[in-house]
Amino acid sequence: MAERGALSTLWTGHCYVSFGDIYARRVYSAEMTSELSNLPTAEQIRRAPKVLLHDHLDGGLRPATVVELASEIGYTGLPETDPDRLGTWFREAADSGSLERYLETFTHTCAVMQTREGLFRVAAECAEDLAADGVVYAEVRYAPEQHLEGGLDLEEVVQIVNEGFREGERRARERGHRIRVGALLTAMRHAARALEIAELANRHRDLGVVGFDIAGAEAGFPPTRHLDAFEYLKRENNHFTIHAGEAFGLPSIWQALQWCGADRLGHGVRIIDDIEVADDGTVTLGRLASYVRDKRIPLELCPTSNLQTGAASSYAEHPIGLLRRLQFRCTVNTDNRLMSDTSMTREFEHLVKTFRYTLDDLQWFTVNGMKSAFLPFDERLAMINDVIKPGYAELRSEWLFRQSVATTAPSSGSDAE
Ligand SMILES: [Zn+2]
Repeated sequence: MAERGALSTLWTGHCYVSFGDIYARRVYSAEMTSELSNLPTAEQIRRAPKVLLHDHLDGGLRPATVVELASEIGYTGLPETDPDRLGTWFREAADSGSLERYLETFTHTCAVMQTREGLFRVAAECAEDLAADGVVYAEVRYAPEQHLEGGLDLEEVVQIVNEGFREGERRARERGHRIRVGALLTAMRHAARALEIAELANRHRDLGVVGFDIAGAEAGFPPTRHLDAFEYLKRENNHFTIHAGEAFGLPSIWQALQWCGADRLGHGVRIIDDIEVADDGTVTLGRLASYVRDKRIPLELCPTSNLQTGAASSYAEHPIGLLRRLQFRCTVNTDNRLMSDTSMTREFEHLVKTFRYTLDDLQWFTVNGMKSAFLPFDERLAMINDVIKPGYAELRSEWLFRQSVATTAPSSGSDAE
């Protein structure tokens, strides 16, 4: 067990880092919460302001919406037409370990996102669902080139999704939730439209699109295939993230950063392969891991999704525990809420249960997310100071009022807690 204030000095390859004060703060905060209010409850986590940087529009549909849209457009390919059973099917297909079954899930969701009505509804519900889950800022990504089968063109797809997000934000406001949603336009790694999609993102940059991404199979499709797109975006002073270091390891991360110039890493979880932990707890960072930490490169970590794709075998063994301790710029994300049957609240719940994270830890992940967002600096700062920190402060202060109720209530009686 760690002693309070115990100093451990770690060799990081370039410098010695003292973790004494980090441990001291964490021990102190764990004592505060366990003494007074225990770990955050699911309800507190849901109400906590959250930031989401890695969420796929075609991976977050409500099962009932898939069923209804399929029926409206006459799509008969669904494996189930009962929403509950369909939801289970998505989760099981993603859990199966079979790439074909996993990819099949997106065939169905994309099939119902080919019309104006379908795309608009899915985008609006996405913003509504995230807001109801306590997300205050989200960057939701999708590949416009995958929504052209019903006759829409790339421009129309982007406009419709943006309109859907605005509608979802409006509906959320009516229910007392505040959320801002920005779009990231994704190009597929195996296709050859990256420059075209990057130009599309740039044309819509002040109209709801905040950045660019590439996704798809890592092995065999290195990000350097799309250098023209990244170089174009850099010349335009625009932002992009790259799916890298999810299944494929360090070379993919290295290329994304040092050849392509990514601002963030989509997943990036395999950076753990460049970190050695000796039996005595000494941690050694390789050159790439040091670079990622030193430059504060954001990692868009998606714990549940990583368990499904085999990047980690359990929450306890997920690298997020070590990466958080080493103070990498970790953010927590959902990836595909439908396939992983998850939400930001559930991701945080898993981490609280596994690592006994406190509200301080959850605030740290959330502030990291906001610092790493593709929003102007002044807006990020205002979100952190005026929305996120006050939200967590309010949750942290709840024990004060619980205690005052407890001291004035009768000391016995069946209703007393
Ligand atoms: Zn992803």
